[in-house]
Amino acid sequence: MVRFLDLKKQFLGIETEIRAAIDEVIDSCAFIGGKYANAFENDFSKFVGTEYCVGVGNGTDALEIAIEALGLPAGSEIIVPAFSFVASSEAVSRMGYKVVFCDIDPDNYTLCPELVKKAITANTSAIMAVHLYGHPCNMTALMDICQDHDLKLIEDCAQAHGAEFDGKMIGSIGDVSCFSFYPGKNLGAYGDAGAIVTDNEGVALQARKIANHGRIGKYDHEFEGRNSRLDGIQAAVLSVKLKYLNSWIDRRISIAEIYLSELQGIASLILPKREAWAKQAYHLFVVRTERRDELAAFLRENDIQCGIHYPSSLPQLSAYDHLNLADMPWLSNQMGAEVLSIPIGDHMSDEDAYQVCEIIKYFFKK
Ligand SMILES: *Cc1c(COP(=O)(O)O)cnc(C)c1O
Repeated sequence: MVRFLDLKKQFLGIETEIRAAIDEVIDSCAFIGGKYANAFENDFSKFVGTEYCVGVGNGTDALEIAIEALGLPAGSEIIVPAFSFVASSEAVSRMGYKVVFCDIDPDNYTLCPELVKKAITANTSAIMAVHLYGHPCNMTALMDICQDHDLKLIEDCAQAHGAEFDGKMIGSIGDVSCFSFYPGKNLGAYGDAGAIVTDNEGVALQARKIANHGRIGKYDHEFEGRNSRLDGIQAAVLSVKLKYLNSWIDRRISIAEIYLSELQGIASLILPKREAWAKQAYHLFVVRTERRDELAAFLRENDIQCGIHYPSSLPQLSAYDHLNLADMPWLSNQMGAEVLSIPIGDHMSDEDAYQVCEIIKYFFKK
């Protein structure tokens, strides 16, 4: 059996540290905010290389709060990739802005800069760069576009902890960046958690206020905000796990190397490319084939777990029927029928990866 994800195995490897960290939080009753939340925020901003980190309740809240904290003009359009998890576009609409979907680049499945340029209108205020599957977007091209058109760049780093663009840590390049620590992400908490990172002091302060009821002092509220705070237990777990993140990503990269060398040359199987600028964090290893459903069934019959990220583009979701973009001849609209995520993670040995390859090779030879 090769599992898609094995959080239990990961826990058993760090159990003593995790239990001690959780015990400490309980002993000190620093449940919401407080010293463990502050400590993780410091650790994480150091890891990413930004001045500020604001811990929040989850990755979706991070996106919503970051967008609100930018204070974009009413009626603004934000360009979002048409292929992502729904939270990327949902956050834009929920904050009252207009989602403008843009197709992805066939080489790296992230926003295509040339198409972004075409999607810009007089109302465009920001671009949301989603580092899908852990592969960094073309940040030089997107930053240039933002400079030329005076736009903000929001990074959705929910799948890309530890990925790098040209040696720069993902999350340290745009105006404001958002992370999810959902348990299954490359850095996952033991519940929901998220963070906003930025070098912009004003944005960080505003995000902190929004996430805590617009609070500026005890029972003193400058405006109506919301409640989305990082809790102490999640923060303590994350501080322990952050120390292992780089070694876990190295493991992911080693497995990816095995897949890339063993599976090359299969005519009807498209492997993920890695751009020259990318340190890929391999949150997911996604292959494409027109025989996707057959291959998925065959893997499952052979005790290899796999997943589909995602079965449709965002415009193909009922939530976006009104935009009438589901039938556009976009790669985004084709992806859902072809993508298959094969297992990758720190729980896997090289032998597991070779076993997955054997079964895939056998499938295509039959
Ligand atoms: C997981 C994810 C989110 C949302 O994070 P949550 O913590 O689950 O709210 C946002 N964007 C992308 C690309 C994601 O993969």
